[in-house]
Amino acid sequence: MAAIEILKERKSQIYEKGAEPFAMTCGKHSLAGSVSQRACVFCGSRVVLYPIADALHIVHGPIGCAAYTWDIRGALSSGPELHRFSFSTDLRENDVIFGGEKKLYYALLELIDAYSPKAAFVYSTCIVGIIGDDVAAVCKKVSQEKGIPVLPVHSEGFKGTKKDGYKAACSALFQLIGQGITAGIGKYSINILGEFNIGGEAWIIKNYYERMGVEVVSVMTGDGRIDEIKKSHGAALNVVQCSGSMTHLAQMMKEKYGIPFIRVSYFGLEDMSDALYDVAKHFGDNPEILERTRNIVRDEISSIYPKLQKIKILLKGKKAAIYVGGAFKAFSLIKALRYLGMDVILAGSQTGNEEDYELLKEMCDEGTVIVDDANPLELSKYVIEKDADLIIGGVKERPIAYKMGIGFCDHNHERKIPLAGYVGMLNFAEEVCRSVTSPVWKFRPRRKRNY
Ligand code: SF4
Repeated sequence: MAAIEILKERKSQIYEKGAEPFAMTCGKHSLAGSVSQRACVFCGSRVVLYPIADALHIVHGPIGCAAYTWDIRGALSSGPELHRFSFSTDLRENDVIFGGEKKLYYALLELIDAYSPKAAFVYSTCIVGIIGDDVAAVCKKVSQEKGIPVLPVHSEGFKGTKKDGYKAACSALFQLIGQGITAGIGKYSINILGEFNIGGEAWIIKNYYERMGVEVVSVMTGDGRIDEIKKSHGAALNVVQCSGSMTHLAQMMKEKYGIPFIRVSYFGLEDMSDALYDVAKHFGDNPEILERTRNIVRDEISSIYPKLQKIKILLKGKKAAIYVGGAFKAFSLIKALRYLGMDVILAGSQTGNEEDYELLKEMCDEGTVIVDDANPLELSKYVIEKDADLIIGGVKERPIAYKMGIGFCDHNHERKIPLAGYVGMLNFAEEVCRSVTSPVWKFRPRRKRNY
């Protein structure tokens, strides 16, 4: 097969390290016809707010939008599981012609009576933006009648990129913050932002911080609770993972409540340890926190180190392509894969900004392809040309990997096992190893044949 061509209009969003000049464009609408791997604005909001387990989530739109995001994350709850429903107003032709406000109003009343949620999030989808329903007015009316926060999420699918959906989710959360009582919150306290409790990850991270002697006021949004979010303005520090989704909220909290924030990642030994040490250093007036942090890092790494060494032998020299939502995760994955002895042949993200891609360029080796808002053909092209052994991505990248006859590691929000924290690093290494070294690949067409 002839080499796969890149669409002319996409060329400025792809860069191969070593080529000059480096002038990547990003943060723009996906190219029509390019079949972007990126989700819509509504989906961006839905994935951020989804793990809030005691809230009602209602999708105001046609049933397809709700079905598409139903139970979209492997986010676990230690209590209620209201988040796992995908309620919808199921807008049809008549509603599009005559408006869907009444339907939304009665749906909210019925659901609030049936489930007694602590709050409700109402997601606007494409058609709602087109017909012009006043969702905010309906939410306000229901909130007054039922006495709970009913929050509009302005996430019409067409109005931007997935990143705009993150912002809409942050704006909805921001309306809750400041409504709770902060009495009793100590000076060594944090909010964990951008951690979604996939496979229980928030519990793992929370446990490390609590062992350090740091109080966790709220997690946004993993295993999230409305009452904790309401009082999160009482915390001394915001610790932001998944910076693409939650930096906007951290900035708003800094401006309004004076809470500083730091960016961290919980993936890989290096970044996980930095995430703990950075918090310990922030509370530098308490040397006991730093001492406990050292002990935790030492103990946790010692417990997984022997197993990692065995895996490294099997993975040495294997090649991986990374395509993830936020660029910050890509940074951690590059470090984690290097630790395992693997080479990264492609690193891409759906929502990276200029600063992120500049940093990716610094981190990557010569010849690594950096890509923004990729499509399946581009990913396939570089998997073939660079002879990758593995794709790390999400549900939409999985079939690409299997069609190419190579291993796959799910590092997105649908997965069920924790990959964050020290135990997560071991899970990650084991999963990558199992996939890359699976005997099934001996049945694939010869890698070097002409596809
Ligand atoms: S693009 Fe529009 S119609 Fe499609 S899922 Fe998103 S909100 Fe719904």
